[in-house]
Amino acid sequence: MTKVKATTKQANPAEECDGKCGTCPTSDACSDQRKQQFEQERKLKLKMDKIKHKIAVISGKGGVGKSTVTVNLAVAFALHGHNGKVGILDADIHGPCVPKMLGLKGQKIVGGPAGMLFPVTGHLGIKVASMDFLLPTDEAPVIWRGPLKMRVLQQFLSDIAWGELDFLLIDLPPGTGDEPLSVMQLIPDMDGVIIVTMPSEVSEAVVKKSVTFARQVGVPVIGVIENMSGFICPDCGAKIDIFKTGGGKRIADSMNVPYLGSLPIDPAICNDSDGGLAFMAENKNSPSAKAFSEIVEKIERFQATAPVRS
Ligand code: ADP
Repeated sequence: MTKVKATTKQANPAEECDGKCGTCPTSDACSDQRKQQFEQERKLKLKMDKIKHKIAVISGKGGVGKSTVTVNLAVAFALHGHNGKVGILDADIHGPCVPKMLGLKGQKIVGGPAGMLFPVTGHLGIKVASMDFLLPTDEAPVIWRGPLKMRVLQQFLSDIAWGELDFLLIDLPPGTGDEPLSVMQLIPDMDGVIIVTMPSEVSEAVVKKSVTFARQVGVPVIGVIENMSGFICPDCGAKIDIFKTGGGKRIADSMNVPYLGSLPIDPAICNDSDGGLAFMAENKNSPSAKAFSEIVEKIERFQATAPVRS
């Protein structure tokens, strides 16, 4: 299998450098641009070293519930003893929706000394960075190509004052293009990716590509979640498989990766997302929240047994 190189060989920014050897990017022989790049990489490494777990949420397909899963995973981790120690990087530059889902619309990232930027903090102390906080209006589109997107993601990672976090969750746009590749490149010690799908065969066919993508960039697959997996009638309790069922498990089995579980269609999930409320916190005893909690426990078990990555 072709392996895409997600990391670049860099000088170790954490090491002291007197800039005299002439072979490193801080020497006089270096261009200003390379020096700036080196400084950015140094800051990024320092920031990422303070975050214990970095997990990306991906999918080949849009609209399957990546942002919903990211937000509720963050809330679940915060409720599981990590209050104030969870962050979300909304890496969907063109369609950011994490702020809306967490009731943070209209807030702005504010600047501090030495170019530092402060994330917006929401429910349970969850820290959020999103393109949405930088846009002048809701209608304003971001019409950017790859290099600009890479630069803003790098700045979010290196200039935002994330502080000491237990978890940073990265909500990626669908597919295997610029943003997923940039994030994998910028965070070489990512714990792994969670892949979200919905049960239909159309979704199944495309989402398999996400597994291959993770393998090619050398990032572990924590597991597959099947979202929108049936609807449980609130009156009679019968399960109706609106988008079929079993697609997530089939992806996991055929690609030999863990299956984390399924989440039903629940109007409360949609209503809470639209209303900026944390579904997991508001509906702790609902079947959907319980299904989510079981998924979170599996992710925690993965982390407890995962080999330490350097
Ligand atoms: P994606 O990030 O993959 O594009 P979203 O998380 O934005 O998808 O979800 C798309 C829409 O579907 C949102 O309005 C969200 O509230 C809704 N949604 C997602 N999962 C569920 C679910 N299990 N039950 C009900 N609504 C859901």
